[in-house]
Amino acid sequence: GGVGARPQPLHVVHIAVEMAPIAKVGGLGDVVTSLGRAVQDQGHMVEAILPCPSQCRCNLLTTTTPTPPHVVVTSCVVEGIRVFFVDPHNGFFHTDSVYGRNDDEMRFDFFCKAALEFLLQTQRQPDILHCHDWQTAHVAKAYWDDYHPFGLWKPNVVFTIHNMNYGQRKIGEAAYYSQKFTTVSPTYAAEVGGHPAIAGHGHKFMGILNGIDPELWDPAEDPWLPVPYGAANCEEGKAAARAELRRRLGMNGWEDKLLVAVVSRLTGQKGVPLIKHAAWRSRDRGGQFVLLGSAPDPRVQGEFNALAGELSHGGDAAFCFYYDEPLSHLIYAAADIVVVPSMFEPCGLTQMIAMRYGAVPVVRHTGGLRDTVFDVDNDKARAAWEVAGSTDPEADGPTAVNGFAFEGADAGGLDYALNRAIDAYYNDKAWFRGLQSRVMGHDVSWCRPAVQYVDLYYAAIKK
Ligand code: ADP
Repeated sequence: GGVGARPQPLHVVHIAVEMAPIAKVGGLGDVVTSLGRAVQDQGHMVEAILPCPSQCRCNLLTTTTPTPPHVVVTSCVVEGIRVFFVDPHNGFFHTDSVYGRNDDEMRFDFFCKAALEFLLQTQRQPDILHCHDWQTAHVAKAYWDDYHPFGLWKPNVVFTIHNMNYGQRKIGEAAYYSQKFTTVSPTYAAEVGGHPAIAGHGHKFMGILNGIDPELWDPAEDPWLPVPYGAANCEEGKAAARAELRRRLGMNGWEDKLLVAVVSRLTGQKGVPLIKHAAWRSRDRGGQFVLLGSAPDPRVQGEFNALAGELSHGGDAAFCFYYDEPLSHLIYAAADIVVVPSMFEPCGLTQMIAMRYGAVPVVRHTGGLRDTVFDVDNDKARAAWEVAGSTDPEADGPTAVNGFAFEGADAGGLDYALNRAIDAYYNDKAWFRGLQSRVMGHDVSWCRPAVQYVDLYYAAIKK
């Protein structure tokens, strides 16, 4: 088009097995919802197709019959996005959890075909089918082989890898059949780019950072906080949250005592030994430690039960081994430091939520943790360039850096970062409090990523 000509608004249909808050296991669920909303806010039409969760009650929309099992499609609006639920009457998705059955692959392949059948039979011709992780990778192949030649002609396929650790064969298939595919941070894209499932298709592949939903995670409007706050009254808001958290979890501690937190699934990916080490180090350095998270592996959970037994008495540590979204808000607000020592991390939302709530991230520099956390001592040049768009590390680095980072995978590595953070807290409280209110301003929104996705959608159509 000519100057000022605007490209056509897009019609994007996400096909996924998670979507917050109705079907959420991890970050994938948050991303489908918040990316969808961000793209919709830019004037595009976004819809989603999901397997019907067990307790879902919505209006019957249509009935389709792709293959023998009879499929019912219902629909409702979730967080402003029109969602279609595919519900085969053989009860494929009437399970307690999204994953974890030994017939997952067969069930999800069936879901992919049913989603395409729904689009065909309702004569929807979206511009983009956006699939997520191995569970919906099959959409790409099934679309080009079995639907594109037979009437569902318009869409092109974009595929996003949220975690490369699962379903690599399926991911490889989608990499081949999709017009563009992405993962959730530039550093993770570089880390997995050499994988055989991806290597031959690098020209279609890029990393786009996730954002967090600014309305869901907003300390200034958060109903779960005793005193909502912004950067200007960060200290006051966080002090009130600390007091409330201590009261709620039965902890001691004076108003200003250092509080270190971890909010995480407790799995190998998240750095279990380093999470335990952070608990000890925080206590040994005169601070307090709070953990919210649980381990699906009973052996790992046993280790944490033992740790809780050793650390909890005395009121300087609290362990909450369950899932509790409201409590997570209070913890992010209360925390001085949030530790994320992942062994690998495609993007990671925890460190971004922490920043939004004025908690200083201490992270292992892997995947998206590297792309979002800039070490106060070591990353001034990178932060000046990537955050402030400046080539002057001396002038712009100090205000663009936002946390503490380490490289190694051992306790010594974590200590290098955590001890510097704790030193800063004790030696220069004013600077540390200033850093806390400053990290609140770090851009963790979808603004930039949503524009990148929209550009990618147009590129996928052009081919
Ligand atoms: P992953 O998707 O690998 O679990 P992310 O950092 O991308 O890791 O996202 C984790 C999300 O789950 C964050 O929103 C975090 O606050 C939340 N979370 C993790 N464990 C719990 C818990 N026990 N209670 C409440 N929220 C949790």
